[in-house]
Amino acid sequence: MFHSTRGEKLVSSPEAILNGLADDGGLYVIDKIPSLDYHDLLNDDYQTIAAKVLNKFFPEFTYDEIKKELDIAYSTFDIKEVVGMKKADNAFFLELYHGPTLAFKDQALVVLPRLMKLSKEKLGYEKNITILTATSGDTGGAALNGFQNVDGVSIVVLYPNGGVSPVQEAQMCSFRSKNAEVLALEGNFDDCQNFVKEFFKNHKDLSLSSANSINIARLAPQVVYYFYSYVYLLRNGYIKENDKVNFDVPTGNFGNIFAGFYAKKMGLPVGNLICASNKNCVLTDFFLNGTYNKNRPFFKTNSPSMDILISSNLERFLYYGNNESTEKTKGLMEQLVTKGTYDFKNPFKEFYAYSTDEEKTLKVIKEVYDKYNYLIDPHTAVAYNAYKEYEEETKDNNICVVISTASPYKFPQSVLEAFGIIEEDAMKAVNTLNKKFNLEIPKVLNYPAVKRKIVSLKDSVSYVEEVVKCLKSK
Ligand SMILES: *Cc1c(COP(=O)(O)O)cnc(C)c1O
Repeated sequence: MFHSTRGEKLVSSPEAILNGLADDGGLYVIDKIPSLDYHDLLNDDYQTIAAKVLNKFFPEFTYDEIKKELDIAYSTFDIKEVVGMKKADNAFFLELYHGPTLAFKDQALVVLPRLMKLSKEKLGYEKNITILTATSGDTGGAALNGFQNVDGVSIVVLYPNGGVSPVQEAQMCSFRSKNAEVLALEGNFDDCQNFVKEFFKNHKDLSLSSANSINIARLAPQVVYYFYSYVYLLRNGYIKENDKVNFDVPTGNFGNIFAGFYAKKMGLPVGNLICASNKNCVLTDFFLNGTYNKNRPFFKTNSPSMDILISSNLERFLYYGNNESTEKTKGLMEQLVTKGTYDFKNPFKEFYAYSTDEEKTLKVIKEVYDKYNYLIDPHTAVAYNAYKEYEEETKDNNICVVISTASPYKFPQSVLEAFGIIEEDAMKAVNTLNKKFNLEIPKVLNYPAVKRKIVSLKDSVSYVEEVVKCLKSK
């Protein structure tokens, strides 16, 4: 069962999944965090581990129901193991970008629509649902892909105009499906996310749901790869039983790293969790100073999927940090709305936080390539730099899993820039990357010309109302 971070009313998994966001504006958390012994996973492949994890979160579905959907969901990935592991001394890059849209969002977004379908069946819910999603670039493409051909569900994606990479934009805008609409909002990602939250609150009659990482069905599939990578390290003799493994996560909305926190609470021997931010270092400051303050300049960086000042999933973290007090969590979230800032002393000592600026990000891409003959994208570079700073500061030499959230092909211009090559055209950059590094171009990377629909903040509510109604009538 689940309840809101701001209230105690319990709902079942299918309800939590279909609602996305709780009625009171809070995020769903599981009423009792399940435990899972990694010893029970030692002979399992990714899909089986995933089914076991998801079955713990969503016991209303049977293991077999879940497993069947997962097998289909992950069959679209370009490697059979679903995720990749690449050793670099004491670190392992956990490649989460082998899905259809080349970023880690696929990990959960190939699963979420299938869980929604199961949820509708369980509840006998027949109305058409509309997914309304804000994206900083990667969720949009992954959600469009995940929801195509899901009956009874349509989807609207909002992204910040000028705030995503050309490849991300091409991927989203070239997507053609009768149940989907993609809009560029004149604002930044936080504006998109706020728009979605407000729209939800004021349109309860429209059967809306969310594919953002606020949906609990996004979070659960992200817990899976923490277990998988631990089991991988153990199976291959890199660690011994119960050794602690650190995880280092390029962070924006705090969804990915929060999944690591859940994995630890479920019993996985996770050591420290490193929260890596770019120049938008609101989370670094939060962990270092105990103050969350969104009143600051917003920077567009070369790791755009982390250009965020309001990290939604932090609300779940605050709930646990406040000893599961929904009252206190609600109070802090109200302060965030009224003042844009709140104080909170983090009781969880396993969190470390670092931030990396753009110039350093590019330097790290080159350094990693020169040392390991391995190409990483800017988000992963932000994470790798945080890991290096962590190692330097703590002298901790436990194995660290550096979560690699995007393919270098999703940000080809920035990757080339790290090697002093400036290429204005994104698709040309893809070819240059291929030639220079002899790195295979992912098959999915083939997008026709982009046609954008730009919406001003002023017109956004009425525009989206029209779009939702129009999609429902199809
Ligand atoms: C979404 C995203 C992130 C940030 O993940 P959160 O769960 O929002 O913290 C990092 N890197 C890439 C490439 C992403 O798409």
